Amino acid sequence: MKVGLIRCLQTEDMCPATTCIKVMDKKVLAFKGIEEDIVLIGVNTCGGCPGKKAVSRAAEMVRRGADTIALASCITRGNPIGFPCPHVEQMKAAIEREVGQEIRMIDYTH
Ligand code: SF4
Repeated sequence: MKVGLIRCLQTEDMCPATTCIKVMDKKVLAFKGIEEDIVLIGVNTCGGCPGKKAVSRAAEMVRRGADTIALASCITRGNPIGFPCPHVEQMKAAIEREVGQEIRMIDYTH
């Protein structure tokens, strides 16, 4: 699995994606049951509210080899302050439209 990770720009100051990287490495939580090697292709933010840049950034990671786009838990679950992204459904749908059905989408990390 080759993962492109998209995270919330607003939480960059609170979290350097340590746990997202750890759960991929340990194959737990969102990555539980993945038998193949997990390679992190890249990490990028949504570009800031309302997250439109997540679409082109996800597409760029696919061009660079990602077969999976993971939306970090700071986006979908609001980690670490309990404040999920209000634009997550729109962002996810737009990414799916852009990258196509053959790219797996994971909508949390931990
Ligand atoms: S659009 Fe969502 S994920 Fe992006 S900075 Fe704003 S709250 Fe965070």
